[in-house]
Order: sequence, then C-alpha cells, then structure tokens
Amino acid sequence: MKIQFLGTSAMQPTKERNLSSILLNYDSENILFDCGEGVQRQMKIAKIKPTRLTRVIISHLHPDHTIGLPGLLYNLYANEYKKTLHIYGPKGIREIVRFFIGFVGKKIKYEIHEIISGTIIKEKKFSVKAIKLDHDIECYGFEFIESDKRKINLNYLKKFGLKQNPILKRLQEGKSITWKGNKIEVDKATKLIKGKKIAFIWDTKLCNNCRKIAKDADLLISESTFIDNLKQKASKYKHLTAKQAAEIAKKSNVKKLILTHISSRYKDGKEILKEAKNIFKNTKVAKDFMEVEI
Ligand SMILES: [Zn+2]
Ligand SMILES: [Zn+2]
Repeated sequence: MKIQFLGTSAMQPTKERNLSSILLNYDSENILFDCGEGVQRQMKIAKIKPTRLTRVIISHLHPDHTIGLPGLLYNLYANEYKKTLHIYGPKGIREIVRFFIGFVGKKIKYEIHEIISGTIIKEKKFSVKAIKLDHDIECYGFEFIESDKRKINLNYLKKFGLKQNPILKRLQEGKSITWKGNKIEVDKATKLIKGKKIAFIWDTKLCNNCRKIAKDADLLISESTFIDNLKQKASKYKHLTAKQAAEIAKKSNVKKLILTHISSRYKDGKEILKEAKNIFKNTKVAKDFMEVEI
C-alpha cells in the first residue's frame, strides 16, 4: 500500500504546498482522497498518470478540497479515460460533478455516490467507511480497512497428507474442512494476518468521532491546521491543532501519525511537528510529494 501526498496546505496554496489531495494505491486501486486545486499538475510532477485513478473520495465541498475536480475530469477526457470513475462525496457532490462534467461534454464514464455515515465501499480485499466529523459544513473522515488474510500452515497440513489442493481455498476463507475423514480446524491450519488500517481525519474540530476513526490505525493522517496557541481560532473555524491531533493518535492506539492541511502561516511545519511530537513521538508533517509505504 502506497500513499502519496499531492497537496498539504489548508485554505490557500503556498509556494511549497498545494491544496489537499492524497493518493492511495492499493492493489489495482488508485483512490484520490480530496481533490484540491491544481491536482492534475501535482500528478504530472509526481509522474502519476491520472488515467490510473479508479475512485475519488471527497470529504466535504469546501473549495480547497474540490476545485481540482474540473481540471482532473478534463484531463481524463483529454487522455481518453476508459474506466468508470467512481466519485464519492456528501450531498451536493452530484450537482457539482454534473456542472463540471458539462465542460467535457459528458464524455467520461462516471458514477456518483452520495455518502452518509457507514461503509461506502465494500470490496473483497478492502473496505472504506465514512464517519461524520464536526466542521461548518457536512464533512467526513474515512477508514480504509484492508481485509484480514489467512496464511496457510503447509507444515501442519502435511500431517494429514494434504498439500496444494483447491480445498485450501476454504481454509483461506476461514472455514474448517474435512480431509480423508479428518477434521482440520481453520485456527490450527492457518494464521490470521490482520489487515492494515489507514485513517483519514479531514476538516473538523475535536469531536468523539475523531477517536473512533483513528482507533488502532496503522497510520493516521490528520488535519492539523493550527498549533495550540491558536486553539480558540481552531475551535471557531472548526479545525484541529497539532496538539489535538497528537492526543487523538495517542489515545486511539495509533502506530504512526502524519499531519497535513497545514496553515500557510507555518512555513516549514517545524512548530507543528514540535508540538505534536511532545505528545506522540511517531509523528511526521507531510510535505507535497511525500510518499509512505505501509
Ligand atoms: Zn480545508
Ligand atoms: Zn473545510
């Protein structure tokens, strides 16, 4: 699983940071989380072909998270995008995309999914869950959850004279089997490998759902617009401080924290990093084009 930060700024772009966009590559899926202005150019710089995209998931309809969409759709049209692009977002996403798609003469295949809290994508290998945050318009955070896998213990199966066989598929599906009159228990014959969880907390003030989203995540990517001396402002405009994001990570048993959606007042993000690291050591501040493998 690879995560690429294509934009890490809040509200307005800076010379170093573009507006919010994160690409998650997993298996054959390339999912873009939020679509800040200029995302197609960021993809060009990062040498990512936009036609590889399979889905776009929009957290909320504020312009700094959506204005990249018309350019991106136009780019897909120009590059003869053949797939069906699945676009997810809160109520209103349908109208926005319909308006933007008007520019390209409806020539791309797409499907809109208006989201509410709950599972929004359920595939065999992964699922994505949306959980409502507390922002000044409807906004969601997301859990990307890789499905658990079962690794077969071939040594154990040797005792039963069982080697490669289509019946092993049933063990992989978590079912016990009977082989030549012997019952083979799935828990003995396989090892359960827990799937990874990536949590995304987008624009929000501190709320209980932040911890819910972050719970036991291998990686939490959280907005961190301000530092703690501006916590009144953060609360007023419904954003998080670095301290709050780090506390969420700490209390939710997160393994690694990456902060993004950084206000343009923090040039290199040092203040953000220092404040968060005081509370949660395994923290990084995202930079545009940063890549993380999980
Ligand atoms: Zn924002
Ligand atoms: Zn916002």
